[in-house]
Amino acid sequence: MTKEQMKEKLGKLLTDHRYTHSLGVVETAVKMAKLFGANTEKTEIAALLHDCAKQIPHNEQLELCRKFKIPLDEVKEKELGLLHAELGAYLAEHEFGITDSEILDAIRYHTLGRENMTDMEKILYLADIIEPNRRDFEGLSDLRKLCFENLDRALLFGFGLTIAHTNRNGHILHNQTIDAEKYIREKLRKEEKLLDNENSFDKAALAVKVLDKKKAVEISCIKVSDLTILADYFVICSAGSTTLVKALADYVEDEFAKEGIHPIAKEGKGGNEWMLLDYGDLIVHIFYREMREFYGLDKLWNDAQNIDINSIIEE
Ligand code: FE
Ligand code: FE
Repeated sequence: MTKEQMKEKLGKLLTDHRYTHSLGVVETAVKMAKLFGANTEKTEIAALLHDCAKQIPHNEQLELCRKFKIPLDEVKEKELGLLHAELGAYLAEHEFGITDSEILDAIRYHTLGRENMTDMEKILYLADIIEPNRRDFEGLSDLRKLCFENLDRALLFGFGLTIAHTNRNGHILHNQTIDAEKYIREKLRKEEKLLDNENSFDKAALAVKVLDKKKAVEISCIKVSDLTILADYFVICSAGSTTLVKALADYVEDEFAKEGIHPIAKEGKGGNEWMLLDYGDLIVHIFYREMREFYGLDKLWNDAQNIDINSIIEE
């Protein structure tokens, strides 16, 4: 089947809205494929067909999955919106005559992702989220930018958005996405550690300055590189309220983003009693003042080398 024939057939299967979306994904995915050296021809076909099963009513999709022996599980049987990816791969093969396994896998994993994704899979996953017809949502413009800078970081960020979105809307998160997110996070962490990080001190210094400026208290900076592979530096501080904990974390994130530095992970524990920004070689810990001792981080890292923060702040 030629590309034109595929488009014609697809146009009949999809609503105008969904068809326009698919063309938007094609446009974005091909641009990304060029940038990251993926096969543009295959990427284009995967993008074009990725939602080819999407318009089939959910119950019918479920029936078809059973009929075609597409593996289901508890979550998929409840979250029927997930089925169109694997069913789409099946239809791409049997209705559109696609035999290339890379294309079929890109379609198959475009909603859940998986561990160890190929570049084409990453590109389709991301292009699906950022294509130009998408309505704006929080994080979209950041993701769009990242998608043309660093594929793995974009993927991690994209998973983060998907996970937040899934939770917010009361949907069940599939394990495959959780594993995929973990996988890419670990991969990035290892690579960051491999980079000979002369600038890890500069990052720590920036965190100290930023926190000091925004009235964080009890700021300490410790060098932990000899004690752990977690990071080179920890910057720890306290804040007078949990609201301020959150505000400080957002502020650090914004100031680092201005330098083009984005966290690998951002986590809040105990309802913002403790927030953590993981920058690979630097981890910033922000505690609600009352709870800092409770978590015992300072004690735990007693042996670490203490850096004099006054020399950093006065600079
Ligand atoms: Fe889809
Ligand atoms: Fe889509």
